[in-house]
Amino acid sequence: MRLQVFEFNMLPTNTYVVWDDSGKAAVIDPGCYGPAEQQELARFVDSEGLTVRHILCTHFHFDHVFGVPFAEAQWGLTCEAHGGDSWWAEHNADEVRAFGIPYPGTPPSIGKLLADGDVVRFGQTELRCIHTPGHSKGSICFYDAADGVLFAGDTLFAYGGMGRTDLHGGDYGELIHSIRTRLFTLPETTVVYPGHGPSTTIRTERMFHNL
Ligand SMILES: [Zn+2]
Ligand SMILES: [Zn+2]
Repeated sequence: MRLQVFEFNMLPTNTYVVWDDSGKAAVIDPGCYGPAEQQELARFVDSEGLTVRHILCTHFHFDHVFGVPFAEAQWGLTCEAHGGDSWWAEHNADEVRAFGIPYPGTPPSIGKLLADGDVVRFGQTELRCIHTPGHSKGSICFYDAADGVLFAGDTLFAYGGMGRTDLHGGDYGELIHSIRTRLFTLPETTVVYPGHGPSTTIRTERMFHNL
């Protein structure tokens, strides 16, 4: 697997382009805000000669989906996310305004539903969906077992961090349960790519959480 990370929008949010030798790719959490960031993402995909097969959302908070309508139009796809975040799909524009941020264009809706255990395939790559509610009801992580890589969204951050639980659908107890039972049970060498900030490993985060 190869990947490229972009930091997009004002929060700032990690957008990942993931691909393999086949040239088939997935874009995870297209957070690009406005034309300059959209073009930065599109230019990278073109310069690497990639064919984007999936637009994947770890969850439907606005900072992770600002660029979804652009990505859908650019690559002729619909985004994929967990249905537990349907409230966010309906309320993203209001929530953005509550943050004092102008909404860039049309808010996206969830195109294709993903569930726990679903496997997303492109080229030789397989990403398994792990439902990890807590930061939001529909938070999912994408796990590539062959390469030992996890895209964790806002469920787990580097150096002992985890997503906030004070937004709609958040639940602290549920988040801790998801991290302990679904993520800390993965191999310790798994490299974790979060929705914000630097990458880490399951081994490092277990040490921070004293597990
Ligand atoms: Zn979030
Ligand atoms: Zn976020």
